[in-house]
Amino acid sequence: MTTGLVWDERCFWYDFGDSRSLFGAHPHIQPGSHIETPESKRRILNLLAASGLLAQMRESRPSPVGAGDLCLVHDEAYVESVRALGASGGGSLGPGVPVPAGGYELATLAVGGTRRAIDAVLRAEVDNAYALVRPPGHHAERDHGMGLCIFANVAVATKLAMRDHGLRRVAIVDWDAHHGNGTESAFYEDPSVFTLSIHQDMVIPGRGAVCDAGRGAGKGYNINMPLPPGSGTGAYLAAIDRVIAPALRRFHPELILVASGLDACASDPTARMLLLSDSYRFMTARLLELAGELCGGRLVMSHEGGYDPTATPFCALAILETMTGIRTGVQDPFGPLREEELAGHQRLQPHQEAVIAQAEALLGTPRCAQQTS
Ligand code: ZN
Repeated sequence: MTTGLVWDERCFWYDFGDSRSLFGAHPHIQPGSHIETPESKRRILNLLAASGLLAQMRESRPSPVGAGDLCLVHDEAYVESVRALGASGGGSLGPGVPVPAGGYELATLAVGGTRRAIDAVLRAEVDNAYALVRPPGHHAERDHGMGLCIFANVAVATKLAMRDHGLRRVAIVDWDAHHGNGTESAFYEDPSVFTLSIHQDMVIPGRGAVCDAGRGAGKGYNINMPLPPGSGTGAYLAAIDRVIAPALRRFHPELILVASGLDACASDPTARMLLLSDSYRFMTARLLELAGELCGGRLVMSHEGGYDPTATPFCALAILETMTGIRTGVQDPFGPLREEELAGHQRLQPHQEAVIAQAEALLGTPRCAQQTS
């Protein structure tokens, strides 16, 4: 299996600045580094190199996308506001949306990295691919950035893939711990892109409910699984096996994308989920299997969140070991997932099961069953 890894040193240079920027000019927050530092992402790359896996992957670099490409998802005025702010020394477009000097160009590289990974798979240069990009993108809406996301990396790259490669059906699975509101918005009325998000309930206020299932022609083509805090491997695997797998089998995508946030990891400071590196290994194996069954193995992941600099790289390594089919022998210091954990706190709990059952019920709706061919 040849796995592509798209990365660029400059993606690590997007500077989110001071921790106070999330809260405006709050007078009582001590100055300090922002939670979104390059460190957890750079450490992924470094662990891939140290483990020897990087040498067995096919690396490539992104090209930035143009403003016209961004406007497939975003308003021209918003794109221009990011460009102008970055060109005039930087500033903020609101809480959680800092734009440093030169930030526009760096943010367009994150979109370009996702696009490059997709192109590499669709051109059969590699079997599957991971875009290690930053800043993240899945919260960015049409006319504003949000939650550390400037441009909608996955959504724009999906539009580009459909335009440039003539794809008719794309599935996007978002396993970031926070709801992929921007991706959902971009395709909410679009039956050609099936968006599925597993996330921690109520973290993004007003978004990510099970009943948000799409609108108009897109009704039935958006599935949210807002799991309760404390959900672990059992809940995530049940969400994939009972909802995502049957939904994808009906939809029959030509490409499966994953908005790969790793902040559902148990030690992440921004969420309260319980995943371990092996959880991501098992989840990746299932999606690889689905991609193999449905779309010639075309699986592309684009990096989103993940803020524990120690644990996040081991989650990414588990994903990429699975995608490459290579075990490096590197031991996760947090340990393997043991059988007793799957029978204990990592198992599917009744209150988590209830959410999955609600999402499962959506699969019976006529729209969802109405597969395009
Ligand atoms: Zn997140």
